[in-house]
Amino acid sequence: MAAKNRVKPKHIPQRTCVGCREVLPKRNLIRLVKTEDGVRVDLSGKLPGRGAYLHDQKSCWRRGLNGTLAKALRTTISEQDLTALIAYMEGLPDGGTQDEDSQAEDSSDEDHRMVN
Ligand SMILES: [Zn+2]
Repeated sequence: MAAKNRVKPKHIPQRTCVGCREVLPKRNLIRLVKTEDGVRVDLSGKLPGRGAYLHDQKSCWRRGLNGTLAKALRTTISEQDLTALIAYMEGLPDGGTQDEDSQAEDSSDEDHRMVN
């Protein structure tokens, strides 16, 4: 039974965004690493240490910096590092705010859903 679809053309590493928990290929994510000097953005993807991943969009970073990142890295992010990470976040596109926007716009949708 289990030996059915074993033909995999390429192995693409999948990672979880600690902001929204979405699993997707590594290249769409920004790696953050806990180094001896604190938590750093690892754009090379090669820094040694415990790593965690976040989407390159503010909504995920906000959630990450609110606690999920520190949890994933099993560390406490110092105020200094947090300031640097927030500065980095400010340069990211907003993106992915569908969840929040839909609350205002989809009020007509709820009528349909209530039929369920
Ligand atoms: Zn995300």
